[in-house]
Amino acid sequence: MKKTPRYRNYIRGCWVDSEGGEVFENRNPADSRERIGLFPQSTTKDLEEAVQAAQAAALPWARTPAPKRAELVFRLGELLLRRKKKFAAEMTREMGKILKETEGDVQEAIDISYYTAGEGRRMFGQTTPSELPNKFAMSVRMPIGVCGFITPWNFPMAIPSWKMIPALVCGNTMILKPATDTPLSSVNLVQACHEIGFPPGVINLVCGSGKNIGIPMTKHPGVKLISFTGSTEVGREVSRNCAPDFRRVHLEMGGKNAILVMEDANLDLAVDGAIWGGFGTTGQRCTAASRVVVHKKVYGEFLKRFTARANALRVGNGLDPETEMGPLVSESQRTSVEQYVEIGRGEGARLAAGGRRITAGALAAGWFHQPTIFADVHPQMRIAQEEIFGPVVSVLPCKNFEEAIEIANGVSYGLSSAIYTRDVDRAFRAIRDLATGICYVNASTIGAEVHLPFGGIKQTGNGHREAGQQALDFFSEWKAVYVDFSGKLQRAQIDNN
Ligand code: NAD
Repeated sequence: MKKTPRYRNYIRGCWVDSEGGEVFENRNPADSRERIGLFPQSTTKDLEEAVQAAQAAALPWARTPAPKRAELVFRLGELLLRRKKKFAAEMTREMGKILKETEGDVQEAIDISYYTAGEGRRMFGQTTPSELPNKFAMSVRMPIGVCGFITPWNFPMAIPSWKMIPALVCGNTMILKPATDTPLSSVNLVQACHEIGFPPGVINLVCGSGKNIGIPMTKHPGVKLISFTGSTEVGREVSRNCAPDFRRVHLEMGGKNAILVMEDANLDLAVDGAIWGGFGTTGQRCTAASRVVVHKKVYGEFLKRFTARANALRVGNGLDPETEMGPLVSESQRTSVEQYVEIGRGEGARLAAGGRRITAGALAAGWFHQPTIFADVHPQMRIAQEEIFGPVVSVLPCKNFEEAIEIANGVSYGLSSAIYTRDVDRAFRAIRDLATGICYVNASTIGAEVHLPFGGIKQTGNGHREAGQQALDFFSEWKAVYVDFSGKLQRAQIDNN
């Protein structure tokens, strides 16, 4: 029998076992008989080691010129490009999503590396006049110190890279704690960093549970910043843990995103968007289109085409290039989806497609579930309010544009939204009125690009943004600098009248 590979933590530039020697396993969601690897079930002692390593590396790294830091990041992008196929295949094996999507996941890490590498020679501050003569004023970005990153399983390389890359270019050192369902992709990312030659201690990886590593990391006084992506429930706890000593915290959390299909929409295009948004990544995206709000004039026709396409989706192992939808990431995720299907039935929604786990043939050993559509859903039903994080889409009828907006905004989340219409005035009204951090016109709710700010409002986020220029604001402190070359005491607000 093939031996299960054993992976380690990465601390001070070396791959090391957890001090306790305990491990947890990671299985292939498409065939749960296959073990992907054994990973350290780390303890607070391991975390302590990583914090000390990151602290020791902080000053030399902060003093390394930003263009030099960025050069390493650029070379990381090049290495990831060379390894893209391998890393994508390993990600499909550990996470389940199809190869095209895992290649896209690695590509996001490449994109953010290339994009942010340029910031090493920019990171612009302001130079500005002083109100006093012979005085110079400017602002500069300063690193913050040791950063702690806690990440989910659905984008196992993209999300860690969105945090790591800008943080590193800004001159911070870091510790990554990946989700226990998908640690291999983080190991791969960190191994690539190791080969590029980041100085020891700048990048550290500690595997383990939220309880053993996540919570202590959010309370550790040596960790100056936390960036968390995951569920709103856990994000609330992270926020509370960071509050007592005012630790800087960035939260990217759940979503309940809607596509609006107006009566003048290109229906085929809207169906394409609903299929991709609802069932891409098996619905396990924070930006998944889990609600489709359809104008009553086209409701019947849209539903007919949408259910036909959902029923025809090829579900299977993501490594097979023919597969269009993979499994859920875990048995517990599948159970949670089944519970929501029961809730939807109980609430009186009409099951229009799917509704069951798949137990037949080659798929029996995986955590597969049918693409599922509920029709005639009422906006207040739980399936229309709560994040399901699986291949379940609710279709809701609406009588006009205003009602569609009201339904779309009537949830506690505010991540992504989309409208399909050919009316340019209505498209711009939707851009203005949809209460989300990301908005699409004639495209689905998913498909963010790394040079624009990514994140949500309401219970999706806490006001910060990932990626784009905005990431720099989170990963650096502003310092205002005044240089007085008048040779005398000059008092602002007093001597300028
Ligand atoms: P999760 O909240 O269960 O776990 C996220 C991470 O937090 C994991 O690494 C986990 O080990 C850790 N963790 C768990 N409990 C913790 C605690 N008490 N303190 C500190 N860390 C803890 O989320 P998940 O199931 O891995 O991911 C799915 C969720 O992530 C969904 O809600 C989804 O919407 C969200 N998500 C959001 C975005 C976004 O950008 N808004 C992107 C991807 C996923």
